Amino acid sequence: MASIKLLLKHADVKGIETFDVYRAHEGYNSVEKALKNMTPDEIVEEVKTSGLRGRGGAGFPTGLKWSFLAKPEGVPRYLVCNADESEPGTFKDRYLMEFLPHLLLEGLIVSSYALGANTCYIYIRGEYAWIVDILEKAIEEAKANGFLGKDILGSGFDLDIFVQRGAGAYICGEETALLESLEGKRGNPRIKPPFPAVKGVWDCPTVVNNVETLAAVVPIINDGGEAYSKIGAGRSTGTKLISACGNINKPGVYEIDMTISVEEFIFSDEYCGGIPNGKKLKACIPGGSSVPILPANLLLRTAEGNERLMNYESLNEGGFETGTMMGSGGFIVFDEDQCIVRHTMTLARFYNHESCGQCSPCREGTGWLYQILKKIEAGNGDMKDIDLLWDIQRKIDGNTICPLGEAAAWPVAAAIRHFRDEFEWHITHAEEAKVGNYGLGNYAAEALV
Ligand code: SF4
Repeated sequence: MASIKLLLKHADVKGIETFDVYRAHEGYNSVEKALKNMTPDEIVEEVKTSGLRGRGGAGFPTGLKWSFLAKPEGVPRYLVCNADESEPGTFKDRYLMEFLPHLLLEGLIVSSYALGANTCYIYIRGEYAWIVDILEKAIEEAKANGFLGKDILGSGFDLDIFVQRGAGAYICGEETALLESLEGKRGNPRIKPPFPAVKGVWDCPTVVNNVETLAAVVPIINDGGEAYSKIGAGRSTGTKLISACGNINKPGVYEIDMTISVEEFIFSDEYCGGIPNGKKLKACIPGGSSVPILPANLLLRTAEGNERLMNYESLNEGGFETGTMMGSGGFIVFDEDQCIVRHTMTLARFYNHESCGQCSPCREGTGWLYQILKKIEAGNGDMKDIDLLWDIQRKIDGNTICPLGEAAAWPVAAAIRHFRDEFEWHITHAEEAKVGNYGLGNYAAEALV
């Protein structure tokens, strides 16, 4: 199948990160079209028609989110670009910002105009320090060429974009924690409602969207929402960036048409290029570390025997019993040598470390998950520990202020659901586990592909 490139169309052009080269390759055409020929409401309608869903993980319809924005008289509105990409396995926004900074700015200008925002913030992950310089240089270039600042292209629309660097907390990727941090406070998630669309940054109406989501507004305005909606499958319209890593021959960032199968994505040379050293595929976390892991057999085919596709609906087919989620598109592949207990423990340690501590199910529960997993992994567990893990993750799920609690609970639940025998092996083969010999011969070999 011929691949479709909307966002990465010009990614390989030398110098595309500079204004002049970007402009020479259709750059900023959507700003001209929007500001000269369209009203803000028409842009919102185009985005609704496109079917674009938020690319940060939740997949909420972007046009609908925009239509919730409150518009009280005399109160400023804000657009905040969530560039706090910190989910393990997810690095596609980094690629967009590093190599196509003007594509992001173009999306921000059109989106700000549609929302009536004259100030836009890019809140960027602290570890992406070098990209701050890239974005600030691009902002200066756009301003010098009349695409930012006062009276853009003579339209009467003013816009300033500021880059704000985070301080290294994963929780600041949650939109209300991000807003707290943007205001200079500790990044604790807020209790919702009120939602940011009513009371966001500086208590003003605010839309928070992910980098990839806002970049996707560019092809939607250039080609029309209807054309965008015809790409993909079902409610998974347009293209999606996937950051692929783990045991694959070609890790990297790929733009996919959401009609391709998971099998094609992993094994074709156009994408991941298969598993190195002739190893078998064991499992995959397809949407960033918080979504449920799937064993290879359920990853390639659903429980009903349907070919699993790289889109929101197909990945979710079977719910969490036999399916998973598209999430952020952080695609992590495990070969037959990988120890699921150890990987689950590593993730539990991460979420425990990143919990902000506001609510007890998350603050205490993530700590217990990590401690029990550590015990089992080291060969010191007993069978009751597996049931205890299950019980704790259930008590976290749905009982916290923000989704970090679920992000910690879901990987543990899925690992036990699909790889319980591997947990049991760590308990029954304690001496081997203690010396790090995982001896995964116990694993259900029929599930390997
Ligand atoms: Fe903080 Fe965790 Fe509660 Fe989120 S779920 S508010 S990270 S304690």
